[in-house]
Amino acid sequence: MPTFDLVVIGAGPGGYVAAIRAAQLGLKVACVEKEPALGGTCLRVGCIPSKALLESSELFSESRHSFAAHGVKCAQVELDLATMLERKERIVTTLTKGVEHLFKKNKITRYAGTARLTAPGKVFVASHPDAVELEAKSILIATGSVAGTLPGVQLDRDRIATSTEALSYSEVPKHLIVIGAGYIGLELGSVWSRLGSKVTVLEFLDRILPGMDAEIAQEARRLFEKQGLEFRLSARVTKAFSTGKQGIVECQDSESITADRVLVAVGRKPNTESLGLESVGIKLDERGRIPVSDHFETSAGGIYAIGDVIRGPMLAHKAEEEGIACVEHIVTGYGHVNYDAIPGVVYTQPEIATVGKSEEELQKLDVPYRKGIFPFRANGRALALGQTEGKVKILAHQETDRVLGVHIIGPRAGDLIAEATTAMTFGASSEDLARVCHAHPTLAEPLKEAALAVSGRAIHI
Ligand code: NAD
Repeated sequence: MPTFDLVVIGAGPGGYVAAIRAAQLGLKVACVEKEPALGGTCLRVGCIPSKALLESSELFSESRHSFAAHGVKCAQVELDLATMLERKERIVTTLTKGVEHLFKKNKITRYAGTARLTAPGKVFVASHPDAVELEAKSILIATGSVAGTLPGVQLDRDRIATSTEALSYSEVPKHLIVIGAGYIGLELGSVWSRLGSKVTVLEFLDRILPGMDAEIAQEARRLFEKQGLEFRLSARVTKAFSTGKQGIVECQDSESITADRVLVAVGRKPNTESLGLESVGIKLDERGRIPVSDHFETSAGGIYAIGDVIRGPMLAHKAEEEGIACVEHIVTGYGHVNYDAIPGVVYTQPEIATVGKSEEELQKLDVPYRKGIFPFRANGRALALGQTEGKVKILAHQETDRVLGVHIIGPRAGDLIAEATTAMTFGASSEDLARVCHAHPTLAEPLKEAALAVSGRAIHI
């Protein structure tokens, strides 16, 4: 029986990164993955392909609506969707092959097949080329999540589909209904809206982007509406079904809506099916997640879990951090994730990025705070780019001045949030941020200005 120090189940960003780190630390590592390509949802059908389409569709939209203002005339702009989709696939292949290369470089043994726990320290791999049982001192479950759905919603993966299918529609839908105004709904809704679809977003709550700072989410809604997205808030979807050619969505207290495509983006659920958890005595919590200790130990000795299958935000980078902390703890006895400084990014136009507490969370926790805001319209680089919408908002403790939350809506917010995350990781105050020299003219300057604004000292507004 092949024997390893660590068997990782799942080769998504959580699992493959953990496998590499464990190999660096000298462990003999195997990774079991059921899909032909490595990289998990993120690389194959999530973060990466969606970003490729967001970038391409944004260029298409800019060429039609923004280039003229720069004095660049395009006589006729045409969409070549097939090429756009092919480009996306090439990017995915480059990255998934890249993970294969990293596995070889780090001497990680890859098993292609579906893994099931059979006993403590034992993993059975069904299929390719032959079924095999592996023995391991430690086992790490990193099986991620699958698209969730709603009671009454019949997914046919064609007219009524998930993000996986919405990354590959072979033609631009005339009308796309998106159920859920979260990360996926807004990103993929934006893609198809830019390419010409009428997009109607149905959201159960009375706001978009639940969990995000409300002021920023409100600004986002205003900008998305300006771009043509239609929001129906407080809409409780009760039924959705396909007629073969169309999707029909019924909401409580309103008429049904018909569209040629319906995207269900109401959250994801931990992927624990057929893992054999019962054979090692692991019981799921009320939300279907695997309970773990601070060091990612499950209730079964030698079995660990990270990423979307455990508590916390379902984000690739959170899973990566957990994977590294988990194997470092196994090997060295140390390993830590700073959950107060995990950024979140929505890659729309403009981008929306957040780290730390929202204003509503601070109010709920009764934490006294000061806030500094700086708009991109007062920033020279944003003006040069022609992207002046949005702002930076910094929340700092009233007495200690420690930065507690940073929320950005604006150009390249997803990159800008890194500075705020670094500052928070090092326990910076708004005064610290305000005293950092920022290159001029850059999009990073509004962060410094917002930090100055916390104490009423912003220069350019
Ligand atoms: P989400 O949790 O971000 O949003 C789901 C939305 O659906 C919420 O606004 C919720 O209120 C709404 N909803 C729930 N039930 C509803 C109903 N019956 N009718 C109408 N609306 C309803 O989930 P998602 O957008 O599906 O994304 C899934 C996960 O993937 C998230 O956890 C997210 O973190 C992750 N993700 C991240 C990124 C990124 O980092 N850029 C991108 C895509 C997905």
